[in-house]
Amino acid sequence: MKNVIVCSPKSLPASQLIVAARKAVEINPHNHPPLEHLALLVPGFRATPARIAVLTKKYWGIGGVKLTVSFLDNPPADLRKRILLHMNAWAETANVKFTASNTDPQVRIARAGGQDGGYWSYVGTDILSIKKNEATMNLEAFSMETPESEYHRVVRHETGHTLGFPHEHMRRALVEKLDRQKTIDYFMATQGWTEEEVIAQVLTPIEESALMSTAADPRSIMCYQIPAQLTKDGKPIVGGKDIDRSDSKFAATIYPKKTVAVKKATKTAAPASKRTRK
Ligand SMILES: [Zn+2]
Repeated sequence: MKNVIVCSPKSLPASQLIVAARKAVEINPHNHPPLEHLALLVPGFRATPARIAVLTKKYWGIGGVKLTVSFLDNPPADLRKRILLHMNAWAETANVKFTASNTDPQVRIARAGGQDGGYWSYVGTDILSIKKNEATMNLEAFSMETPESEYHRVVRHETGHTLGFPHEHMRRALVEKLDRQKTIDYFMATQGWTEEEVIAQVLTPIEESALMSTAADPRSIMCYQIPAQLTKDGKPIVGGKDIDRSDSKFAATIYPKKTVAVKKATKTAAPASKRTRK
């Protein structure tokens, strides 16, 4: 338990954020933040390009996710197969498919330690902004000897990020375990966040953030994970252990399996819909 590795949030460098946000909206227009809504909700809200970029979601789109996967360090076939199996666990309810391929792979998995080590994945469409020879996901030291429970907790969580799911807030009892100042310093240093951003993201319990969060699930596999040095009792917060029911349901709403039966209707209504759109 002491040495457990937790997920470190991974985002693009600030210089790439605006371009990546535009790409995300190009791929899936629903990724654009609801600016009018925010202007009403947040006093003094200003829609600068940088602010819009931060608020832009990174989902792949209603048509589902089909991504190719490769491994950067040539692991054995049984390990590749096992990792892919757990990535595709999301496919149980959602229209999601990860396939092994060495031709221009979109998801690139490394198992590096050291500076770039740990467990992480870039979020959703952001993986398209990573250089072709660099990892989009890291599963430090994963092997066939890694316990099955870690495949559930780690591979499925990191795959959730690849699908575009951000971290969920923690419930109050867990937030209270955190050393507030250490947590602020840590996320400011590792994520480049401001103090306000750390407070909003990590130190605001799910009970208080329910208004902002679409899926308020305290046991979500996508909950924040916190390293041991940031908690008052010196124990890490490992987060959800597996995709739970509400995770599956949420994934199914973002990437529904059945295309809606109104296809024909929208086709007929196409000229009108053009006029009604803003
Ligand atoms: Zn994570």
